[in-house]
Amino acid sequence: IGRHGGQRTTAGFDYNGVSFGDTTVNLFAGLCAVDSLESVDSMMAALARCGIQTTRMGAYKPRTNPYEFQGLGAKCLPWVFESAGKHGIKVVAMEVTHPRHIDEINDALKQSGNATGVMLQVGTRNAQNFELLKSIGQQRAFPVLFKRGMGITLEESLNACEYVASEGNPKIVFCLRGVKTHLGDPHRNMVDFAHVPVVRRLTRMPVCVDPSHAIGRAEAPPDGLPDIFHAIGQGLIAGASMVLVDFHPHPEIALCDGPQALRLEQLGALQRYTNIVRGAY
Ligand code: PEP
Repeated sequence: IGRHGGQRTTAGFDYNGVSFGDTTVNLFAGLCAVDSLESVDSMMAALARCGIQTTRMGAYKPRTNPYEFQGLGAKCLPWVFESAGKHGIKVVAMEVTHPRHIDEINDALKQSGNATGVMLQVGTRNAQNFELLKSIGQQRAFPVLFKRGMGITLEESLNACEYVASEGNPKIVFCLRGVKTHLGDPHRNMVDFAHVPVVRRLTRMPVCVDPSHAIGRAEAPPDGLPDIFHAIGQGLIAGASMVLVDFHPHPEIALCDGPQALRLEQLGALQRYTNIVRGAY
């Protein structure tokens, strides 16, 4: 992960025509969990209208409660990759929770004609699943989006990334997504975006922020922007170059994390907000 004694050297990498590094901002707006072909297609069409070529789509969901929706798994991969190809989406961030998911994704991508690419996401609950990290490091096809462990130290999360890098895959983006505290919080997690410059100082990895899982609610005060927007602003001002954010065409019926999903009508505003904040810093 390029630890280099406090002096940041060249960060990032290119993948499937998209640059991940310090000079660009990549907005990965999409579905936390794929629930229907219609949701996928509406989301991709909204992205294409805004000229956005990256998205997030959850197929394999690591839920805390085994009785809640677990994701549609391999069944929904053709919907995702065919729709991505149709709408010109270049990279889909997708969590995997088991090494066999990488093969399933590879197969589905081939069958869909390989027009899009995938960034393999390691979720916070698997931040120290070392066998998964090693498998992801051993494959070279896909870059990796690593989400910090919600209850471990930053150093432990950075070491987890070394498991990926030391197996041969250095294309890693480090994602901050909030941490758990014992204090209770008006938000779902304690927002940890002040750690963006720390990760940038200590490593060569591009840094992503996930305001949706950090904040956990899409509401806004009557006269203001959603808390999620403000968290994005914090992350970008701190130097993040990627944003992962949940959307849904109908958040009230989403099968996973509906309360934190923004509506498709908010995508343009989010894109403008992102450009303004980034342009100012
Ligand atoms: C997600 O991004 O879908 C997710 C489950 O996030 P996290 O691993 O950060 O909880």
